[in-house]
Parts: sequence; C-alpha cells; structure tokens
Amino acid sequence: MSSGLITSAYLLAAVLFILSLLGLSKQESAKRGNWYGIAGMAIALIATIFNPDVQGIGWIILAMVIGGAIGIYFARKVEMTQMPELIAALHSFVGLAAVFVGFNTYMDQEEVVGVMQSIHLIEIFLGIFIGAVTFTGSLVAFAKLQGRISSKPLMLPHRHKLNLGALVLAFLLLLIFVNVEGGSTFALLLMTLIALAFGYHLVASIGGADMPVVISMLNSYSGWAAAAAGFMLSNDLLIVTGALVGSSGAILSYIMCKAMNRSFVSVIAGGFGADDTVTSGSDEETGEHTAVSAEDVAEILKDSTSVIITPGYGMAVAQAQYPVAELVRQLQALDIEVRFGIHPVAGRLPGHMNVLLAEAKVPYDIVFEMDEINDDFPETDTVLVIGANDTVNPAAAEDPSSPIAGMPVLEVWKANQVVVFKRSMNTGYAGVQNPLFFRDNSVMLFGDARDSVEQILKYM
Ligand code: NDP
Repeated sequence: MSSGLITSAYLLAAVLFILSLLGLSKQESAKRGNWYGIAGMAIALIATIFNPDVQGIGWIILAMVIGGAIGIYFARKVEMTQMPELIAALHSFVGLAAVFVGFNTYMDQEEVVGVMQSIHLIEIFLGIFIGAVTFTGSLVAFAKLQGRISSKPLMLPHRHKLNLGALVLAFLLLLIFVNVEGGSTFALLLMTLIALAFGYHLVASIGGADMPVVISMLNSYSGWAAAAAGFMLSNDLLIVTGALVGSSGAILSYIMCKAMNRSFVSVIAGGFGADDTVTSGSDEETGEHTAVSAEDVAEILKDSTSVIITPGYGMAVAQAQYPVAELVRQLQALDIEVRFGIHPVAGRLPGHMNVLLAEAKVPYDIVFEMDEINDDFPETDTVLVIGANDTVNPAAAEDPSSPIAGMPVLEVWKANQVVVFKRSMNTGYAGVQNPLFFRDNSVMLFGDARDSVEQILKYM
C-alpha cells in the first residue's frame, strides 16, 4: 500500500469513527453507529497491517489471532450484567498497552536532538504516566464492580495531599527526565511506580455511588493514553481515535457529574464521594415495611390510570425486561398510560437500562430521562420500582448526612402508590438503606424481579 493510500484510509476511518459517535448518541441510530465503528476499525487495521513500514507481519497476525480468540471467548461468555467489569478490564489493557509502547519507544529511540528530542521525551513520559494511571485505576474499578474489593472508599489520611504530592513528584521527575541526554531511566521507572500507585489510590478512594463517574473518567483516560501512544508511534489515526475517545469520555464524565450533582474537578482529583463529614447511611432497617403478593400488585395496576416504571440494576440481574415489556403491552391494552423513568446512573453502565429496554423492544417514545419525568410523579397513580434502589432513595434529597446526599433521584415517593420489586431488604450498590421502603404509600413485592413480573402477568 502506498503512503497516500494509507493516509486516505486513515482519514476515512477517522470520519467513520466520528459518524459512529454521532450514531451512538441516540438510541434509534445506535446500531448504525456501531456498524460505522466496526467498518472504521476494519479499515484502520487493514491499512496499518499493509503499511510498508510495518515489519514482522507474521507476529502481528499471530497476536491478532490470539487476541481475537480471547476477545470472542469473553464477548460470548460475558453476561450483560458483567459488561461494566468487562469495560473496566478493557480500559486497563489500553493503559498497559500505552505503558509498553512508551517503554518500547524509549528503548528504541531514533537519533533526534534539541527541541525535538525534548518533545519526544515528554511524549514518552506523559504516555507512560497516563497509561499507568489508567491501568491500575481500571483494575481497581474492575475489582470494585466485581465485588472482589469493597465498594466503600479507601480513606487514607491526607489523601488529597498524597495525590497532590504524587503529581508534583511526577512533574519534578519529568524535568529530570528531559534534562538528561536521551532521558533518565531512573526517573522514568520511578514515575511509573508513582503513577501506578496514584491510579490505584485515585479510584480506591472513590465511594460506591460515584463509580459511574469513575468509569466514564477511566474511559476518557484510556482515550488519552491511546492518543499518547499515537504520538509516540507517529500514528495519526491513533492520535485522532484516542482524542475522540478521550474527549467523548470527558464529556460523558461531565454529564454524569451533573446528573449526580458532583463537581467535575473533585472527581478528577479523586477521593470524591468520601467526604469525611458524611458518616451516616447505616444499612440498618428504619421502620416497618409492608409486603404484598403479585395478585395484589395486579389489582393495584388494574385500578390505576397512570403507571411509571423505574428500572434499576435488579432488572438487569433478573433479565426481567422481557416480562416487563409484556406487562407494558397488557397495561396499554387496558388503556392505562405507562411510561419509564430512567435515572442516568441506573444499573452499572451509562445507558444500561436503555439497552435492556431496547432489547425487549419497548418503544423509545415511552422511555423518559429523569429530568423529563420527575415532575410527573405527584400526578401518577402507581410507580413500579423494578430492581432499583439508590436511584430512588429519598435520603439523597432529604438527609444531608447521607453518603448520597445531593444526588438527584427519581422522586417516586411522590406518587400515590409505590411498589418495590426486590428480593430482600438489602441495600443497593452504595450500601445505604432506603427509607422509601418504609413509607406509608410503599409496598414491597419480594422475589426475583422476573418471576414477580411473570406472576403479575398471570393475574392481569
Ligand atoms: P442499586 O444497585 O442501588 O440496587 C439494585 C437493587 O436490585 C438491589 O437493592 C437489589 O436488592 C435488587 N436486585 C438485585 N437482583 C435482583 C433480582 N434478581 N430481582 C429483583 N431485585 C434484585 O440499583 P440502581 O440501579 O438503583 O442504582 C445503581 C447504583 O449503581 C448507583 O449507586 C450507581 O451509582 C451505581 N453504579 C452505576 C454505574 C452506572 O454507570 N450506571 C456504574 C457503577 C455503579 P435485593 O438484593 O434485595 O434483591
């Protein structure tokens, strides 16, 4: 392939990636967006492999076969509920790759002098720094999401000072690194260790309910790590792609922060959601709850004229979206207005609930975001809270000492009647008890959400 052809292919791939992001921003066009992304990546791979500068094609193909086989294995095996962990693990790979590319570039430096050499060394240093932070940060996120380590924040004394100290030290090491002819190996290695520890601490010190922001932030970091690798490898497409992922991840983090009423800067600085003054949120029960049967819920529904369903992580675990979609059809057939209210961080992945509902062919026009539907709860007869907990917790709005205080939530308790579908009185992801369950207008339908909805369908 000539270099002109390769540049054109890269340009086409970059345009396809932009179209892909555009498509993914709306549910209706998300599938098309995915196809654009796949086509762009295929073109990028072919152009890279057939680049005349690329040597050792046999090794590349071998690596692709092994990597592809592992990828296919995991893609087939992973459950929808495990997607967040998978994504966190994939981000860690991007980080690790950037670290490897950085060390490889450092050991295999071309003869450049003066300003160009300094720029080249800064690229290497930053690439490894961002890559190492992304690597350990993503591993901690992976372990927290899988429940291997507690989702509670790690509260080291002086943690903000520790973070700041790490950044200052890394900056001093950068100065040393670029001022030594060809770079200082010692400075690079020391910075790598600091960055690994920094990434670990940054994510470990973030509390449960703030994990969504962390995930999108790591997504952004992985993009910048890829862009840094692109600079080191002088690969324009990698720079463009990395920047696209980096900036879209940053925009998503910003949107998530707004949705959670958190400050973007505090989250980036780490240790957020772990305010020392916030200590309550015990998981003890706080009153009496009323349990009902599926038959009772069917009667409540038949007596309603308007219903809002607020799904959460439990709907994903139970795979209840299919019977829920059937329930919607039956309610609509009875002339009952049914809508969905989706919290921006419901589930374990941005857009998690939307994906599940789309899978079950729930029409998009009855699915509303929190801001669009929150004012409608007081005029709603019945709310079905299906496997949601933190995202419908009134403590966020009413208890300033709650760890989730200030986080906007779906104000379901303002409806006439609330039915909560869950298996026990256990807390949600943030580990905070939910006073909603003990309100006079709330009833609990215990059991697996899928079984519960199927039972209700029998009485409709
Ligand atoms: P929660 O995690 O707060 O609660 C889910 C509830 O579902 C639990 O209380 C659980 O109760 C119930 N449940 C679990 N399995 C089943 C089942 N099979 N059938 C019925 N119920 C079940 O969910 P939300 O969606 O309300 O909130 C999401 C939380 O996750 C937030 O704290 C958010 O910050 C966090 N998070 C979100 C991410 C995102 O990007 N969206 C990423 C990482 C974290 P029980 O065990 O009693 O059944």
